[in-house]
Parts: sequence; C-alpha cells; structure tokens
Amino acid sequence: MAFPQQYPYIIIGAGIHGLSTAWHLAKELKAVKSGSGKDILVIDKTAIGAGASGIACGVIRNNYFQPAMRELMAHSVDLWEADAEGYGYYPIGYMQISYEAMHEDVAQIYDQQKAIGYTSEFVEGEKDCMKYMRDNIFHDWQAQNITSILHEKKGGYAHNTQSLYRLADKAEAEGVRILTGVDITDIQTDRESVTAVGTSNGTIGCEYLIVGPGPWAQTFWNMLQLPSHIQVQDRDGSLHENVKMWTYWCLVEGTLGVDPDYGNDNLGNLPPVIHVDTDAPLYSSEDGSLITSEPWGIYYKPDCRFGGIQGGSSPYVVEGDPDVDPYGIDSPDFVVGPEFVHMWTSALAHCQKRYEDKYRYYKDEPSGGLGCFTPDNFPIFDVFKQNCYMILDSNHGYKMIGVGQLAAKEVLGKKQSLLEPFRFDRYEKGELHPVSHSPFPWS
Ligand SMILES: Cc1cc2nc3c(=O)[nH]c(=O)nc-3n(C[C@H](O)[C@H](O)[C@H](O)COP(=O)(O)OP(=O)(O)OC[C@H]3O[C@@H](n4cnc5c(N)ncnc54)[C@H](O)[C@@H]3O)c2cc1C
Repeated sequence: MAFPQQYPYIIIGAGIHGLSTAWHLAKELKAVKSGSGKDILVIDKTAIGAGASGIACGVIRNNYFQPAMRELMAHSVDLWEADAEGYGYYPIGYMQISYEAMHEDVAQIYDQQKAIGYTSEFVEGEKDCMKYMRDNIFHDWQAQNITSILHEKKGGYAHNTQSLYRLADKAEAEGVRILTGVDITDIQTDRESVTAVGTSNGTIGCEYLIVGPGPWAQTFWNMLQLPSHIQVQDRDGSLHENVKMWTYWCLVEGTLGVDPDYGNDNLGNLPPVIHVDTDAPLYSSEDGSLITSEPWGIYYKPDCRFGGIQGGSSPYVVEGDPDVDPYGIDSPDFVVGPEFVHMWTSALAHCQKRYEDKYRYYKDEPSGGLGCFTPDNFPIFDVFKQNCYMILDSNHGYKMIGVGQLAAKEVLGKKQSLLEPFRFDRYEKGELHPVSHSPFPWS
C-alpha cells in the first residue's frame, strides 16, 4: 500500500487509547454516516503495544478516591466485560487492603461505589479483616496492621497484548489502517489548527489529529508548543507558580516464578487482585533485617502470561526529563533492580506464609517502566489547537479502555460529562481532584 499523503483523522500511538479511539471513532463515523474506518490512520513509531500498554500488568479496578475517576473506571469496566474473552480479561475482582491511615478514605470510596452501583464489600477492624481474608481468600493470610478491606467484586486484570491486538483487529475490521515503524517528527499547524504531521517517511496532511502518547506525552506537548510550566490553583485557592507540566515516575514490577496456581485461593480458584498498604514494619524474608518502618504497599496476582505471581510496589520519582527511549524492558535505566526484588518478595512473605521461602524463585528478567505524569497526577483529556485531541492519561490508563469510546464522541463534537473533570483548564480554575492518603500517586 502506498505511503499516505492525507487522511481525515490521524491517531498517533497504537496503545490502549489510540486503538480504542480508532475502533470507536470508526463505529461513530459509520453511525452518523459521515465516513467510516477508512478515514482513520493510526501511526506508531514501533509496533502495537510498544509503549506502556504493552508492559502494563493489566490491573483493572475502580478503587479511586476521586469520584470522577471512579465513574470513569466503572464505564471502562463495562467495556472490558462486553468482550472479556476477546480481551483476555479475568473478572476476578480486586481488593484494597489497608492500614488505619487509609480507613476513612476507603470507607468513602465504598459508600460512593454503592451510590453508583459498583458492587463491593467493606470489612472493618483488624480481627474481622484477618478472618475475612483467611476464611474467604487465603488460609495463610498474615499481613499485619490491616484495619479495612474493600473487596470490589468487579474488575480484575487483562492480558495486555491480547487486548491490544483485539482492539486492533476490531479497528481494522472497520477499515482503519494501522501503520507501524513510522516516527512522527513534528506537528504542523497554521495559526489556529493542526494541518499535518511530519514523519520519518514524509508529511501526511490531516483534518483532525488524536494523540495517545502514554509516556511520550511531553514530546507531543512540546511539538504543539504548549507551556512547559503552568500556574496551578489548589482546591483551597492557593496558587503555585511555575509548576513543571510533566514529571516522571518509574513503575516497579516483577514476577515470582512459581506455578501461577500456587497463588490460588482457598477453593483453588484465581483470587482477586490483591493490593496491600500497611504501616507494619517490613522485614526481609531472606535474612530477617528491617527493610522499612515507613508505610509501604504492594499488589500482586497469579498470571499465566507472566508465568508466576506478578505484581509491583510503589513507584519512585525520576528527577528531570529522562530519555523515554528505549522504552520498557529495553531501557538501560528504568527497569527494576535488586532493591525492588528484595522488598517485593519480602512483602509477599509478609502477606502470605506460602511465600516465606520463595524469594529465590524471583524471575531475573527486565521489567517495569517509566510513566509520565501531569501536575496533579490525573489525566487530561482535551482539545488543543482546535483540532488536536490529546489523551494524556498520567499513567492511569491501561484499565481505561472506555476513554477511547468517549473521546471518539468528543472528536465528533459530542461533549461527554465523564470527561469534563479532566480538562486542562482545571489547573487554572482550581478544580483539582481530591487527594487520598495512599502512598501511590494513582489512587
Ligand atoms: C510498568 C507499568 C505497569 C502498568 N500497569 C498498569 C495496570 O496494571 N493497570 C493500568 O490501568 N495501567 C497500568 N499502567 C499504565 C498504563 O500502562 C498506561 O497509562 C497506558 O498504557 C497508556 O496508554 P497509551 O495508549 O496512552 O500509551 P502507550 O501504550 O505508551 O502507547 C503510546 C504509543 O505511542 C508510540 N509513539 C511514541 N512516540 C511516537 C512517535 N514520535 N511517533 C509515532 N508513535 C509514537 C509508542 O511507540 C507507543 O506504542 C502501567 C504502566 C507501566 C509503565
């Protein structure tokens, strides 16, 4: 097929957002009889799933302290459920298991989940939490200082590449063209709007540009000559000048190479995804030394695609503007090291007796990767330069498969209330999302 010169719609990025938007936009165009998937070109410089979507551990949850995030996640979970088998989605549920400092926040989440009809159970008090875990999930549960459990009955996890290829297939079936190995080098604009993208293979004109850049958010922000620093107004009205627009965290994840079934629940079934935050001192399962007396958190799940018990712990801040390329497991800098392995395997042992002597089975292979975050660590979904829709998910996004459906409608001029709380002008207006006591930047 010849290299294209012009397309009505160009989508940059074949990750979860680019592909979901492509498929949904194709269906929208057909529905309103103003075009079809043949009007859409997806461009990726590497391949489908070459970015964060292809290394995400795939956890899908509703547990967010921010009401707008919860509503958005509930919408996405509906889409995961609509084609669970195709996406490789396991609707096994999700558990937020917390220490006392988070109790009140999580109780609020539970109340609001009830209000939006998102099925969950809430357990309170140290004794009842231990009993709930041992009776219903893991007989060898032993995590300390846990005073609340939010058990989401929906959500779970999905296989990252399977879901991406499924979306790509759906998009292509609607006529969308996916072009890989083509690098976008610049975005051309006239005074008001985007007119074309410059690529490694030549210029392609477009009428509308959609960008789903994941960790490359800053690259495209700069191509549009948007501000590197902004003013942010807090929820209490206080102003912060010159706040850096983009910051980076490194997500740390890995796999314990035991048989995935080893992590099954009391009935021999896949358990919910487990997320634990506690202030109990964490001791090494290798030598008994104290690892930390500060609050810590981990998450994990048995996962046959990763070949064991897969999960992670709190990310760390990366100073400055790191090189995003090479990305993911190819990065020389942003993959996990021995400190993570020691902490995470010890934390597994803290939670469940069966892992006490299993640290030696940790799979020594590169994992983890960079995430690019906005000033308040929440997504921005908005139009810039009149015809450039940006899905800047602040690393929340594999689970957000439904954002593409909503974004596609917005591209065609139908504003979506679920996306309103995520506009760029919230920083100026002081309409920030509330912040929880979780040690993770994404809760
Ligand atoms: C280790 C890790 C674990 C995670 N786990 C989870 C999880 O369990 N659950 C969850 O919900 N989220 C998770 N996330 C976050 C989630 O992966 C991201 O928020 C989401 O995948 C971003 O999707 P995207 O489509 O915006 O970007 P990406 O998937 O990163 O896609 C962007 C694409 O743009 C392409 N691209 C970049 N520059 C150019 C260019 N110049 N020209 C052309 N193409 C270009 C890239 O090749 C890439 O394929 C995790 C993230 C990491 C790093």
